[in-house]
Amino acid sequence: MTELTENQSQQMPAFCLATDLDGTFLGGEKSERLALYDWLEAHRAAIQLVFVTGRDLPFIEASCSEGIMPWPDYVVGDVGTTLAVRCSKSRRLIPVGELEAPIKARWGQGFNHIRQALDAAPGISPQTGTFRHRMSYHYDHQAFDPEIKIMIEKAGFDCLISDNRFLDVLPKGVSKGPSLLRLLSWLSMPKSNVLVAGDTLNDLSLFETGLRGVAVGNSEPALIDKINSRENVYFAKSHGASGVFEAITAFGFREIVQNAAKLKQEITA
Ligand SMILES: [Mg+2]
Repeated sequence: MTELTENQSQQMPAFCLATDLDGTFLGGEKSERLALYDWLEAHRAAIQLVFVTGRDLPFIEASCSEGIMPWPDYVVGDVGTTLAVRCSKSRRLIPVGELEAPIKARWGQGFNHIRQALDAAPGISPQTGTFRHRMSYHYDHQAFDPEIKIMIEKAGFDCLISDNRFLDVLPKGVSKGPSLLRLLSWLSMPKSNVLVAGDTLNDLSLFETGLRGVAVGNSEPALIDKINSRENVYFAKSHGASGVFEAITAFGFREIVQNAAKLKQEITA
């Protein structure tokens, strides 16, 4: 990362929340979600919000349009294979070609040469949706043949099973964590300003970045097994959005954001 000028670092949001959606930002009781969303929106000038999710852009646009969930500034979507920015004028999420180019190159001609084998494979069935640089399946642990995972990897892709329910075929080396790091670097966002949040194995790569992170209280046991000795991770007692808020306070980001907002008010007064 290039060194920031004093002026740039003053303009940089004091806090960047890079959060998974299902089970994390969208998890917990409605009142708990609203407490987090209201706090984020009240201090939005000092906060950058990034969704790091398996969901695609149409899902996020539809959810945010309902008026409850805040709009993100950036999206690392489709399990790290989409990188998009929010256009404030059109209220659309627009893929960033420059950031997606290496992902597109790795996906190449796609997975058509193994598609037939996957269509016939036991224990997986295609998810609905438009997939750009990945393919995703519903996964049934009992019926699945582990040889299929080996076949996917031999064909040059990564195979990610998460929440014991989903299987993703991804371009090699592409997942949530590495794509988030590329976005942060592109934004020149200091890593110390960032908190990542997640709940299942498809969030493992987020915790492996070394960034400060929170595993919410309802996290998948298989994820906890892999990260329980990591010092960069806070293990929240609360579930979903409330667990994220618990970690924001525990890491001191709540105070940092409130001080930054106060300072801005003083400067503009
Ligand atoms: Mg999740």
